[in-house]
Amino acid sequence: MPKLNEERARRRTFAIISHPDAGKTTLTEKLLLFGGAIQMAGAVKAKKAARHATSDWMKLEQERGISVTSSVMQFQYRERIVNLLDTPGHADFSEDTYRTLTAVDSALMVIDCAKGVEERTIRLMEVCRLRQTPIFTFINKLDREGRDPVELLDEVESVLGIECAPVTWPIGMGSRLKGVYHLLDDAVHLYESGRNYVTQQARIIEGLDNPELDEVLGGDAAELRDEIELVRGASHPFDPDRYLAGQQTPVFFGSAINNFGVTPLLDAFVEHAPAPGPRETVGRTVESTEPDLTGFVFKIQANMDPAHRDRIAFMRICSGRFERGMKLHHVRLGKDIKAANALTFMAQDREQVENAWPGDIVGLHNHGTIGIGDTFTLGESLQFTGIPNFAPELFRRAQLRDPLKLKQLQKGLIQLSEEGATQFFRPLNNNDLILGAVGVLQFDVVAYRLKNEYNVDAIFENINIHTARWVRGTDRKLDDFRRQMQTNVAEDAAGQLVYLAPSRVNLQLTEERWPDLEFAETRETL
Ligand code: GDP
Repeated sequence: MPKLNEERARRRTFAIISHPDAGKTTLTEKLLLFGGAIQMAGAVKAKKAARHATSDWMKLEQERGISVTSSVMQFQYRERIVNLLDTPGHADFSEDTYRTLTAVDSALMVIDCAKGVEERTIRLMEVCRLRQTPIFTFINKLDREGRDPVELLDEVESVLGIECAPVTWPIGMGSRLKGVYHLLDDAVHLYESGRNYVTQQARIIEGLDNPELDEVLGGDAAELRDEIELVRGASHPFDPDRYLAGQQTPVFFGSAINNFGVTPLLDAFVEHAPAPGPRETVGRTVESTEPDLTGFVFKIQANMDPAHRDRIAFMRICSGRFERGMKLHHVRLGKDIKAANALTFMAQDREQVENAWPGDIVGLHNHGTIGIGDTFTLGESLQFTGIPNFAPELFRRAQLRDPLKLKQLQKGLIQLSEEGATQFFRPLNNNDLILGAVGVLQFDVVAYRLKNEYNVDAIFENINIHTARWVRGTDRKLDDFRRQMQTNVAEDAAGQLVYLAPSRVNLQLTEERWPDLEFAETRETL
């Protein structure tokens, strides 16, 4: 299938990782601008700017403005099709971010030049390392006074444990910023403050020895030549193979807000970033060039569009061609479904997909049957591996202000739990509705969304649960367990049996008393 391979080879699917405020949103907007996906800078920003910081969760909800409606942004740059997967910035949403990183082929790390490597970046980098994800680095905010570039690269190397290969090098910083020098192209990109808001290119001077450079930089030109000689001598040259192996990161400097240094970054990115590659399943490796469609679900989002009230499962295509209306085999359920209204995600609106290819993300309408980690094929029984599940660590009981809204509350809790950030439990011997989460902010977010999306006023109160374990074993043993442990047994949203332990000691005793049962920390282990 030459068409399949051609389409696959031009895909670049990636995510931006950064510590909050390093400039991810700003850079996203500039990339979309270059990709022609938006006409005017400010479109993405505007959504985020509406973030009044009245409270932490309000801010989160505002953040969802971009993170949700623009979860997947596709644009064309040169002959490439770029899929940019957005990740929520807040630490309490890290499950979502981790899963999104399983659906990309590479990542772009944004670092604030005044702050250097920050805590969130370190954690995200660890996740990338698990899969040897190739990483580009953009050191942002050059228009402000920052740290010495050599020192910044040293910090990336020592703290993140990855070799740096500078591709562009700053000429000055803050008010003295003159431009960047491109070490591979031997060209100076000049910086003109305030001029770069629209998609105009920077003025480029070819060659470090070009006398034009002396005209523009005056005495600084000689200094630049010396500095570049030092940099070349002291740093690693860019090695595409080491980059692809996740051992080296090419480094670019710039100022996202001024649209400066972004073109060299994007040019190199579409050239060197990997096209969709092979993926592991339980039984075999799936090559992206295989003609039969395969894909996995890495994210589920309820009520993406309040006007539609729909739930969308995001599937990454791993091989084959996706066609609208085609029949997909839902491996876990062993059933076929028809992908009638699949969606693709352009920056501003959702469009109906006609065709999609390896590396692309399609949105499938979910009526509660699709779960995170589910695999779709044309019939083969495959299960993609490496999509993490997270054990809830905090538990609360949902209390209704208006008891008549019980049905709505249940529906909301079930649907929001499909997204994977919270888990919903119903004890077998009482009518409590219990929510488990990894981060405490999730409860605020769920309460807020219940009100907004389901019109239910609920509060979450403390409850004496230390941890949850999914119980597995033979039907008979499970029945015994259910009967004898009644007070601490619940079902999750999918009807699986869960033991809710009041304390660590209880858990230990129970595990000892039921040696034939398995007590798993997460719902499904792959
Ligand atoms: P995010 O939290 O990583 O998405 O960061 P944002 O893109 O929202 O940027 C955080 C702040 O840094 C905002 O106030 C931006 O306007 C500002 N910012 C982003 N890029 C630059 C830049 O190149 N220079 C300067 N001076 N500020 C920037």
